[in-house]
Amino acid sequence: MKHNFGAGPCILPQEVFKQAAQAVLDFNDGLSILEISHRTSEFEAVVAEAEKLVKELLNVPSGYSVLFLQGGASLQFAMVPMNLLGDGQTASYLDSGVWATKALKEAKFVGNVNVVASSKEANYTYIPKDFEIPADSAYFHYTSNNTIYGTELFDVPATSVPVVCDMSSDIMSRVIDVSKFDLIYAGAQKNVGPAGLTIAIVKNEVLGKIDRKVPSMLNYQSHIDNGSMYNTPPVFSIYVALLNLRWLKSKGGVAQIEAENKAKAEALYREIDRNPLFKGTCKVEDRSRMNVCFVMENPELEKPFLKYAEENGIVGIKGHRSVGGFRASLYNALPITSVHALVEAMQLFEEKQAK
Ligand code: PLP
Repeated sequence: MKHNFGAGPCILPQEVFKQAAQAVLDFNDGLSILEISHRTSEFEAVVAEAEKLVKELLNVPSGYSVLFLQGGASLQFAMVPMNLLGDGQTASYLDSGVWATKALKEAKFVGNVNVVASSKEANYTYIPKDFEIPADSAYFHYTSNNTIYGTELFDVPATSVPVVCDMSSDIMSRVIDVSKFDLIYAGAQKNVGPAGLTIAIVKNEVLGKIDRKVPSMLNYQSHIDNGSMYNTPPVFSIYVALLNLRWLKSKGGVAQIEAENKAKAEALYREIDRNPLFKGTCKVEDRSRMNVCFVMENPELEKPFLKYAEENGIVGIKGHRSVGGFRASLYNALPITSVHALVEAMQLFEEKQAK
């Protein structure tokens, strides 16, 4: 078995892949999940259970809608301002990485954008904390986990304005207080399900406050009114997400997976900090539990280490091209035994170098 530290898309447990494969062949009475009508009671039950599980696992309070959308988090970059940023209003954004930059770029097509702070000058190796959010902002947007740089913002910034969060790469990895957010969105493909599905959790009362006419497909309200079936939904992606949410529940839910994710991240960062060959790339207090970025003190050893790791069944650790070095993604489905395998490879490589 490979130890897959890839950043995605879609790292899910083997048992979920197996159940999904079976459903392609026979979901119900010999029919594939891909061929049954999305208007059947069987598929409606899939959507209803998936929605119920998202609400249960994240403890979503009443007054919020859970939506299954398409277009990835990237479409949310545009949908958020189209639905929440009125004419003449300004939205505030925290620029903590490329995804945040892309989000605010889309908002600029719709209205005014105020960047409250940015860590671009340090190649996004930390999360700015010292900033003010003007009280007249239409909303404040931030990215909770910066997948490329390996930083994570654990505390929701305090503000009186509506909070919008891109949780694409850490949703379902740790306990969150949904009541602190007005809109959460996530491309599903890290901890939820296959690419092609986007999850949005929308506080109903944040909608309907602006005059702009928004096309139906881009309007959260049309998806709420139609129970995420305004058009043909991504049936397979929703079904696989359901299987994965069931798996997460059977493991003890988000609090349990958070404890495991903490243990995995701590084990790997401990080795990065101990081993003289390696060093972390981010400010320690902002280190992500999902994407661990590190380099080697001697860059010439990076290729040999990558090769050595691959020979030991460790795949997907090559860093993003804008950071270099390594990125080990520790999504929910990655067992702690895989982290132990990586730590052991780092230790054995250190011993080899000493010889
Ligand atoms: N936001 C974050 C934090 C991401 O990690 C990604 C992709 O990895 C995106 C947004 C873009 O998501 P999508 O490809 O679903 O549009």
